[in-house]
Amino acid sequence: MLRAMGEGGDTGMSETVFSIMEQAPILPPEAPGETAYEVFSADPDLLVCAVVQDGRPAGLLTRDRFFLRMADRYGRALYSRRPVTFVMQTDPLLVSEDTPIEQLSAHILSARPGALMDGFVVTRDDRYLGVVSTLGLFSATVKAVADRSARLERLAADLSEAERQARESARAKSEFLATMSHEIRTPLNGVLGLSALLTRSNLAPDHARLARTIHESGSMLLSLLNNILDMSKMEAGGLALRPEAFALDTLAAEMRDLWSARARESGVAWRVDATPPGAEIEADLSRIRQVLMNLIGNALKFTPAGEVTVTLSLEPCSLPGRGRLRAEVRDTGVGIPARALESIFQPFQQADSTFVRKFDGAGLGLAICQRLVSLMEGEIGVDSREGAGSLFWVEIPVIRRAAEARDSAAA
Ligand code: ADP
Repeated sequence: MLRAMGEGGDTGMSETVFSIMEQAPILPPEAPGETAYEVFSADPDLLVCAVVQDGRPAGLLTRDRFFLRMADRYGRALYSRRPVTFVMQTDPLLVSEDTPIEQLSAHILSARPGALMDGFVVTRDDRYLGVVSTLGLFSATVKAVADRSARLERLAADLSEAERQARESARAKSEFLATMSHEIRTPLNGVLGLSALLTRSNLAPDHARLARTIHESGSMLLSLLNNILDMSKMEAGGLALRPEAFALDTLAAEMRDLWSARARESGVAWRVDATPPGAEIEADLSRIRQVLMNLIGNALKFTPAGEVTVTLSLEPCSLPGRGRLRAEVRDTGVGIPARALESIFQPFQQADSTFVRKFDGAGLGLAICQRLVSLMEGEIGVDSREGAGSLFWVEIPVIRRAAEARDSAAA
């Protein structure tokens, strides 16, 4: 006997067995087989009917099985005068009227596959209420599937509309930021230019310090503005990659020169290497440069003493003509507490809020690096120990240029 599951069951939206129940003629157990023959003959659409005693189901007669028995050799002679109990199915599936159809289908498939062919009896408080034929069950299942796919289609349509709206609002935000940052950048460049001139002029030491502070603050503001603009462009999906050919050595030399003054200023040993020598690749140089600038800038910012080393290497890859650019930026600086490592690539996250005062920054650099790296289908990661230093690494799939093969063959 199948009953509806309790309140915990997923009965919410689905229809119950009652809605697909058919009212078929019922036969008492003592009715002769001939009566069943007449009942089925009178209604060619009748597929199943029940034998009921004192209001309770006693068995089930299905059209096909019944006629097969009757059509047997001597079938009619044997069964037409005997009570229908001789030909009925004595253990039909009994289903309570409030059973959801989805629960019923699952039950039939797992426990009573025979009911798929025979149909079943519907009950209320264990008393007979009606029957459901194979056809009824089939139509109900088809309807349930159609309802479900209509619901899914509506959901998919809602989702794509929501996605369109989200993209539209991200695009509007990005446009607004682009316009605003242009408006802010123009006067800011004026401030930067003039304060740079001021620092180089013949100022009293106090005034020179003030002019330098104006210049540094302006530079920080400009880099923050650029970072926010990059983030919003990436969120709006408006950042396209521009691959170009370049030599690893050249990129290494560029980084070495760009940061050597800063490293010297803070008394940190500074080294950049590229391997193998002469390697030439094709990738988005300006995005890779941007990632490296962020990582190197951080390494120098968070390393009061010791050394910062950068290694660029072209790693092999199983695809012909392809390779992986691996960049490692290693420092012996303050390191990152283990608890902060997980969130370090999230926007506006800083390892320790006390750094905010000590070291400038808004916590956007690594978030931008991660987005840029995933835009280039690469990976970025960090190993760090508080007080001992950090290793930030990046791996990006690149195209190997023929020059590399030629150069290394010549070497
Ligand atoms: P910020 O602009 O604050 O530097 P980032 O996203 O680049 O933003 O870095 C987030 C935080 O990660 C930093 O505030 C710092 O706490 C930590 N961090 C990043 N790089 C290093 C590093 N090399 N050594 C120690 N901490 C680092």
